[in-house]
Amino acid sequence: MTQTTGSCLCGKVQYHYEGAPVMTGVCHCRDCQKQTGTSFSIIQGVALPALQVTGSPKVFETHGISGGKVQRHFCGDCGSPLYSLVDAMPGVAFLKAGTLDDVSGLAPQVQLWCATAQPWLTLDPALPKFEYNPPRA
Ligand SMILES: [Zn+2]
Ligand SMILES: [Zn+2]
Repeated sequence: MTQTTGSCLCGKVQYHYEGAPVMTGVCHCRDCQKQTGTSFSIIQGVALPALQVTGSPKVFETHGISGGKVQRHFCGDCGSPLYSLVDAMPGVAFLKAGTLDDVSGLAPQVQLWCATAQPWLTLDPALPKFEYNPPRA
């Protein structure tokens, strides 16, 4: 099985996972804009048992639209956001996919939180868009 690796900017926190991601998307929510310091997060959902993390990321907790916790893991030394655990979507870690070691295969399939997308930003118009989170399957 293929292994995917990534790390924070300074390299003190590293991660890898086996197999294929559950989803790759773009999140335009204000919390992602604040945390990343830019216009959106590119996120890759990975089944939690498959994700192995070395190092000790810090956690900053926010709350999602449903009121559930969002635990935002980041490197306390260099500040890179790494992944989020979302109460409303248990069992999946949402990696900040810009921290992957190889970003050449990244291809978002969906856009989330388009309600707060920055208006000058145009991404592939063929991507499905949701105003907020996608409806639960
Ligand atoms: Zn770091
Ligand atoms: Zn977000």
